[in-house]
Amino acid sequence: MERIAAAQQTNHLIRHPTLTPAKPQRNDGAIPLTSLGPILIASPHPDDETLGCGGLIARCAKLACSITVLAMTNGEASHPGDRVWQEKLGNIRKNEQYSALKMLGIAEPDVVSLGLPDGGLELLGEEQCELIEARILELMQAREIRTVFVPAVDDCHSDHRVTARLLAAVALSHPVEYFFSYQIWPPEERSPWVVASEYEYLLDITDLISLKREAVYQHRSQLNAIDPVHNEGFRMPEALLEAKLKNQESFAWIRDISAWSQ
Ligand SMILES: [Zn+2]
Repeated sequence: MERIAAAQQTNHLIRHPTLTPAKPQRNDGAIPLTSLGPILIASPHPDDETLGCGGLIARCAKLACSITVLAMTNGEASHPGDRVWQEKLGNIRKNEQYSALKMLGIAEPDVVSLGLPDGGLELLGEEQCELIEARILELMQAREIRTVFVPAVDDCHSDHRVTARLLAAVALSHPVEYFFSYQIWPPEERSPWVVASEYEYLLDITDLISLKREAVYQHRSQLNAIDPVHNEGFRMPEALLEAKLKNQESFAWIRDISAWSQ
């Protein structure tokens, strides 16, 4: 009987998925995924969206909830080389991102690529940032975005931190219903003001692990040797894969965006 009850609960969670508070005493109730869309996922490099939000994307795709991926860069700096090579690699990674999103169940992925320099977001000037924010706002208004997902503002990678700040600036001037962050490269020690603004929510993806793994494997250039000349470069560490292929995805609901992104 217990097993039947557990199976019924799992079925219910699959049919009516929710983001569930990790610590009920600190939070409001569960958030049904059906209340999130249209969703914008800001991804600094092709693969961050799959690693950080792959299960969420698959669940939302099943619910026919609209998802737009904002690709900040094409990830062309993961393997060093000349300009021609970097352009080629950027295109490879854009295709990998598209395939991963299809694998997760989006028939025609809506990816908007800004083509900003991989590894160079921290060097953007104030004026450039304002132009980028205006472009993001225009996109959000055109898609009538209700919910935004961004990397953590204290992520170890500067492109991730800048992405979080750019989206936070837009959301501060034009509030959205929900503003969530996802972790990729967490720092050893998190800043207290960041943690204080975060309310952790979990999404059960037990039944989606193999699908998410397949989607992660679409990012082939980040997992295997690409070609004999450009073998030096980034490889997804086992620890990252292990952390991102667990039964639950974790997101932080940011209530006070200003304090979080200070
Ligand atoms: Zn990244």
